[in-house]
This record gives sequence, structure tokens and C-alpha cells, in this order.
Amino acid sequence: MSLLTFKRGVHPPDNKWITMDKPIVTIPPENGALMAYPVSQHLGAPCKPIVEVGERVLMYQKIADTDAFVSAPVHSSVSGTVKEIRKTLTPNGTFSDAIIIENDGGNEKYVNSAEAGAATNEGLLKIIREAGIVGLGGAGFPTHVKLNPPKGSVIDTVVVNAAECEPYLTTDYRVMMEDSKALVEGLQIILKLFPSAKGIIGIETNKMKAIEILESLCNGIPEISVARLKPKFPQGSEKQLISACTNREVPSGGLPAHVGVIVDNVDTVMAVQRAVVHNMPLVRRVITLSGSCFNNPGNYRARIGLSYRALIDAAGGFKEEPAKIISGGPMMGVAMYDLDIPIIKTSSAILAFNKEEAVLPEERNCIRCAKCVDHCPMGLMPVELNKNAIYKDEVLFKKYNGLDCVECGSCSYICPAKRHLAQSIRSFKRAILSKPKS
Ligand code: SF4
Ligand code: SF4
Repeated sequence: MSLLTFKRGVHPPDNKWITMDKPIVTIPPENGALMAYPVSQHLGAPCKPIVEVGERVLMYQKIADTDAFVSAPVHSSVSGTVKEIRKTLTPNGTFSDAIIIENDGGNEKYVNSAEAGAATNEGLLKIIREAGIVGLGGAGFPTHVKLNPPKGSVIDTVVVNAAECEPYLTTDYRVMMEDSKALVEGLQIILKLFPSAKGIIGIETNKMKAIEILESLCNGIPEISVARLKPKFPQGSEKQLISACTNREVPSGGLPAHVGVIVDNVDTVMAVQRAVVHNMPLVRRVITLSGSCFNNPGNYRARIGLSYRALIDAAGGFKEEPAKIISGGPMMGVAMYDLDIPIIKTSSAILAFNKEEAVLPEERNCIRCAKCVDHCPMGLMPVELNKNAIYKDEVLFKKYNGLDCVECGSCSYICPAKRHLAQSIRSFKRAILSKPKS
């Protein structure tokens, strides 16, 4: 059987062997730990704190919210006392107001009055919103908004993004291995919103054990199938995954819903299951620690709000001083300069590399080989976009569809001259998008 995939892309070494067979270890926060909850952990409007300094809060209690539709509330992952509300650096490199709570170690739970029921679409979407669920694959788009597509959209396919194509990352793989029933149940819950849709779990064949478990679980569930995908980067990017699983192309500037598809990451679907079945908001996540500098590389379940430093220390610390630390994968992650930042909803991995691994090759002149063009998954011309970005030529940048760049880094990876293509394109794209609209 030929494997499904998208056009172009690259094949970086996946290095998943380091942690893929390591079961998830739970790291509880220490008594007295100061947990930090940024009020903006998602795409969309930031929340506002709804608790005050000095107030006692319980685990699962909502501590920040907003009336804005495109947003998601934030919950405390511990019981304790609000010590402070102050600005904090987040793993995305941005600053956000954050609620600081001192953990009292009691894990005393807040019991939701659960006024909404999952029997209706509105009730189900309300539960998902109230649980603070956002896309956990990295983008952080609020899930209740994604599951409520623009009027007139006819959704016939819900794709579970189980590609986990970033090298080193094994969190989705481990949660699928250890709780695959919750994934299938979560997908069945989401499919209730789109009764004529089918569900597809798109997963790369470098995760064969998980494929076998899921295929056997889905056997006898006619509305759900498993799509075996040929490993390639960036298969987990929404448009590429849709192309691989359904052979449909999302138009430039369009949404997956425009081609009848909704995509949700593995852990997001499982968070929906936990919210609906166990009345549990999003307060924890599984994070891969990998790279040569960790004493105990592995997969760790940690509470949102715990600091990266506390997680790393509890997991055994470094055996060698890292020269480079990345939050997320090596292709699309963010370089970190400070470990005293909190785990947020979209934190997926911490990678720590030594001096030899962290060396950045020197940028040389373009040799006009067109490799970047041949491998760009969006069919763009990175070599031209790089030039437009350097000369800040917004008109030409837009003409070459630079705003369609998914910031995957494939062009930089493949370029023999080691041009900083993706970096320059990403910065210029963000500068254009952040300009006030005239
Ligand atoms: S131009 Fe953008 S989408 Fe194309 S390879 Fe480079 S980073 Fe990826
Ligand atoms: S891959 Fe690098 S060297 Fe080749 S055309 Fe693109 S920018 Fe130039």
C-alpha cells in the first residue's frame, strides 16, 4: 500500500529514538512552588485576571477570562494563594501579564457547577471553551472557535493531527501509546458536532506501534480511519496534513473549513475528552526533554504554570552546560535565553544542545541551485522572498505570496549556502502583519 503525503518538504533526521520508548513520568510541583499563569497562552484576545492578590484559589479554578469570542480562559493547576500579578516572559518570546500562585500542595479541587451539558452542540462547545482548550500542536488557536466554523461551511472530515513531524518530539506519540482510547473517544465526541463527517487520524509510519494500536481500536468504528503517512517535514502543518489525508488544497488565505475539513492535534482531542468525560480543564501537558545535554531525556507530564527550570531540575537536570536551548522542535521552535519562564498550554518540548551541535553555519552567497524552491511545501520561492525581506520590499513580498509562508524552516534546512531564508521571511511577514491597518 503506498503511503500518503504532501508535495515537496524535507527529511531531517527525526532523532525520536532518544525518547520514544520512554513512558511518561509525572512531575508534581513542589509545595511552595511559585506557578505563573500568563493570561495570554493562545491566539486571540488575552484574558483578564478574575482573581485578586491574596485570594485563595483551588486547582481547576478559572483565574482569567474574557468576553472575546476568540480567546480561552486560564485555570489554576494547583491550589494555593495568589501572590502577585505581574509581567512575565513566555516561551514564545513575548511578555504577558501573569497570575503568580504559590502552590500549597493540597491539590484541593474546584468543582465546576457544570451548567452546560454535552447533549447539544452549544453545550459541547461551551464545555470546550470553559475548559480553556486551545490547539496544543503549537498554534494555540482556541478549539471552541475552530469547532464552530464560519456559517455555510460544510464539514465532512475531521483530521486528527498525529503526524508529530518535528524531529526529537515524542509527546503525541507517548500519549497515543498510553491513552489511545481517550483519543478515539475524543474524536467521537468532536464528530457529534458534524454528524455527517468522518474522522481520520493522520499518523506517520515512524510511529508503527501507535498505528497498530489505533488501527485495532478503530476497527469496527466505521466513521474513523487511520491514514498512514510517509514521514516528511512539515507534515503536521495544517495545509500539508489536509493535502496528505484528503488530497484537498486549502486556497491561499483560506481556512481548512473552506475545503470541508477541521484539523485538531492529538493532545487537543484528548483534552476535549478529559473536559467532557472527566470535567477537567486544561491544566497540564506532556513535554519531551531531549538533546544531548539532559541527564534523563524523556517525556514528562507537568502542570501548566511550573517553570521550565523546575521541570528540568525535577527531571534530573543537565549533564553538560547547554549551548542552545529550544522551546519546541528544532525546525520551528524558539531559542530560549531564560529558563525561569512558565510552561504554557502550547509548550511541547525543551531541547538542549551542546556547543558542537549548536554551531550555526556561516551564511554564504546564494548559488542559484533552486533547492529552496523545490522543497518549499507551500510552493513559494524562498530565494526571492529572502531578497524582498532584506530590501523590505512589501509589494514584491506579497506578490510572491510571502504571507502564505508557514514558517516551517524547510528552505533554510535544505539551502547549501546556509542562507537564513526562513528567519528573514518570518520576521518580515510578522512585521507586515503587525502593522496597524490603514
Ligand atoms: S518559504 Fe516558508 S513555507 Fe516555504 S520552506 Fe521556507 S519557511 Fe517553509
Ligand atoms: S537553496 Fe539557497 S543557494 Fe539554492 S537557490 Fe535557494 S537560497 Fe540560493
